[in-house]
Amino acid sequence: MEFINLKAQYQALKPEIDAAIQSVVESTHFIGGPPVAALEKELAAFAGRKHCITCGNGTDALQLAFMALGIGAGDAVFCPDITFIASVEPACMLGAVPVFCDIVPDTYNLCPESLERQIQAVLAEGRLTPKAVVAVDILGNPCDYDAVVPVCEAYGLTLIEDAAQSFGASYKGRRTGSFGRVATTSFFPVKPLGCYGDGGAVFTDDPELDRLIRSLCVHGKGPGGKYDNIRVGLNSRLDALQAAVLLPKLHALQDSEMDARQAVAARYNTAFAGKLTTPYVAEGSVSAYAQYALLAEDTALRNRIVSHLKEREIPYMIYYPTPQHALPVYRELPQYGEAFPHANDYCARTFSLPMYPYLEEAEQDQVIRAVLEVL
Ligand SMILES: *Cc1c(COP(=O)(O)O)cnc(C)c1O
Repeated sequence: MEFINLKAQYQALKPEIDAAIQSVVESTHFIGGPPVAALEKELAAFAGRKHCITCGNGTDALQLAFMALGIGAGDAVFCPDITFIASVEPACMLGAVPVFCDIVPDTYNLCPESLERQIQAVLAEGRLTPKAVVAVDILGNPCDYDAVVPVCEAYGLTLIEDAAQSFGASYKGRRTGSFGRVATTSFFPVKPLGCYGDGGAVFTDDPELDRLIRSLCVHGKGPGGKYDNIRVGLNSRLDALQAAVLLPKLHALQDSEMDARQAVAARYNTAFAGKLTTPYVAEGSVSAYAQYALLAEDTALRNRIVSHLKEREIPYMIYYPTPQHALPVYRELPQYGEAFPHANDYCARTFSLPMYPYLEEAEQDQVIRAVLEVL
């Protein structure tokens, strides 16, 4: 068994994927071109956005967003304490300072009250300018935007949605990727929509930001083309091969994979109800279940479960063992009074089970049995 079996997906989509790859190879048009344009159009329509700009990876997508929004030295960028480093790392590259906020104990997403406390603490200190909030749809489960948006508005902060884990999910009838002034996603192979290498995308409704990001991702090109450089930018583009692979995968995600993820999660939920803390998906939300994470009652039990899984050769992961504020790279930063009780508790008790649309019921039962053996 694999933690995420990409081979099963390839076997299911092989004719379309092989044909798409073959046609790019024959065209010898490897960067940009028709498949990239077609993909951007479909991604924008799928997410419900006016513009989609593809790029090299999800980290670059965030960096392009931060650059386009003019985030830099002296700015504070707020971010949940439970996420992958890439949510805020590119802002640090630009000289901004990350300020972490605790999570809510049910969805493990950004806590709006902690966000507000941290904004007030930064304002009270007077050293940094509160500038932006990166809301992450952690594990594929949408953040509570109705609670976070008013805090951003009250303090004049720009909201960025990091939808790297949640592509295909939705919140109150709106797809992820549609929240914030800018949203980003990643096509890293094991994300809900993954390509065969690195890839990412930025989403916005603002034509000015669209224009700016399209310049920033090609060395700051100007109206005169790529040798008319008018600003410092990146070289961050999606390969035509990746776009060609993503198109049939996007169709599969829409047609069957999101439903299949829900079905796996539902079976796991039933099996573990009352025994472990199962994922909480709020009314009106649909999770992309990038990960299926459970919480054990305490660290000792979590560790006993995962060592038993290891013995049974059932793959598991811990997303994430360390909250952002405690990472070696960030732990010297001021924490503005936040103690992160929920983030610390989450890391101490979480573990994730195999989860992908092609996980067969027999395999699910094997996973369930192994976990229940310990309980
Ligand atoms: C994967 C991920 C990213 C970065 O994406 P890459 O394509 O790997 O650069 C950013 N944020 C979150 C929350 C992620 O999970």
